Amino acid sequence: MDGLLSIGEFSERCGLSPKMLRSYGTAGLLRPAAVDQYSGYRYYAADQLRQAELIALLRQAEITVSDIAAFLNHPDPGVLDRWQHDLASESVARRSALARARAAITADHGFPTDQRHKSRRGSEMGVNIIGSGSATDIGRRDINQDGVLVTDDLFAVADGFGQGGEMASQVALLTLSSEFSADRSIAGLLAACQDANRGVWRRANAQNDIATMGTTLTAVANTADIGVVMVHVGDSRLYRVRQGRLSQLTLDHTVVDDLVRAGELNERDAESHPHRQVLLRALGVAPVVDLDYGGVSLQPGDRLLLCTDGLFRTLSVDDIRAALRSGAEAQRAADDLVSSAVCRSAEDNVTAVILSA
Ligand code: MN
Repeated sequence: MDGLLSIGEFSERCGLSPKMLRSYGTAGLLRPAAVDQYSGYRYYAADQLRQAELIALLRQAEITVSDIAAFLNHPDPGVLDRWQHDLASESVARRSALARARAAITADHGFPTDQRHKSRRGSEMGVNIIGSGSATDIGRRDINQDGVLVTDDLFAVADGFGQGGEMASQVALLTLSSEFSADRSIAGLLAACQDANRGVWRRANAQNDIATMGTTLTAVANTADIGVVMVHVGDSRLYRVRQGRLSQLTLDHTVVDDLVRAGELNERDAESHPHRQVLLRALGVAPVVDLDYGGVSLQPGDRLLLCTDGLFRTLSVDDIRAALRSGAEAQRAADDLVSSAVCRSAEDNVTAVILSA
């Protein structure tokens, strides 16, 4: 048995347990170089160590024993590439399924996939967004830090704040839009939001000033896998008008709103509270952001409004409802809504996106 290693020595050097070595031997993956006829002891050659380490790595990657056996017969690097690719798509599929599950339990107004069954038109994703319009105005500020995004299937408002807040909202929307166009699934949308967050976070930290810049984000997307969803962080808002009834589909992530929800402050005092605009969550203030998201159910005739606080702090709920109910096409309605806020001398930047279903 000269130059051979006992199973114990071999196990120690390659990191595979004797039990595993015996089972890989049986499976034909790694046959002992010699077996003592009398004792049945197994011996391995030192040059089998590389093979054993390779097997250990592939097992760590959760490749099955029979796949490893086939690979060892023809060790083609292309096979490794294929496994890596399969793993990436599996992870995307699992992330997407988890995101859909999350959307299913957080949607306060039904899960978009329900609409597939309800849709009279039989379109695969149910009711779609058929019209959009947007408007933004500087209000009485020196600079417009609000940003607005309107594409075929992604709509967003962002309200930048702090030193360079206008850059924060722009970076966030540009990143969101380019990343979402590469992966239009719900998982792609959430990943795009995290990328947008990191983009703003990096910019904020690259500034010499104290990093105070950040932005809110409220977005509606028509995703390829589950239809219309919203993503939200901060104190911009998403409203829906259905048959004359206005509902707010987002929660404001502000200190004051939290106090109201906890019953520690009434809504009237909240409106004049000195900290009413202090945000609990925003994009660009930490490397990872906690996002609200969920399905948005749509019926034909519904309208959605995405807007920054400059709009809803200036106009009343009745003003907003009236503008959304009007038969005007979405662009007209958005222009009218923003200009009426500006006419009431809005202190802040004012931005609105209106979507028609
Ligand atoms: Mn604002």
